[in-house]
Amino acid sequence: MSRLPPLRIERVRNGRGLVANRAFTPGALITPLHGRVVSARTVWGWWHGQPRRAANCIRFDADRYLDPTGEWGEFANHGCRPNAAILRERGRLVLRSLRAIRAGEEVLHDYSTLLGADDVWTMRCMCGAGACRGMVRSFDRLPAATRRRYRAIGAVPGFILNSGR
Ligand SMILES: [Zn+2]
Repeated sequence: MSRLPPLRIERVRNGRGLVANRAFTPGALITPLHGRVVSARTVWGWWHGQPRRAANCIRFDADRYLDPTGEWGEFANHGCRPNAAILRERGRLVLRSLRAIRAGEEVLHDYSTLLGADDVWTMRCMCGAGACRGMVRSFDRLPAATRRRYRAIGAVPGFILNSGR
């Protein structure tokens, strides 16, 4: 068993990102995501004063977010053609590969799979994928075919599918 961490933080296309330190098979657990679970209200407060911190927060369930400051999750970038997904498994968030990932590849997930219909946050996207959507919005606003594909491969947490408008 290698003592090398699964990921490293490196300069990538858009700032810093997570790069695989080794290859991962499809569906492999890359790493659990650590951080502090905070209320939606706390994150709302950060939009004034700490907007970057707020933007980095990852939806944890219906009312809470994971603040990944200082942890891998802080550098987990979006891609419209992701090779990984953030899922909720046994009470924690994990980063799992969606396909084979080579050592040295940036690990990307689609932010939209973590944006419920009640999340108003959007982001102009410059991920560089041929299929780039140009704008990252909530899961319910993805093209129907993309929603079906993500659901079929299990890339969407249940609390996102169930989020009301
Ligand atoms: Zn994109």
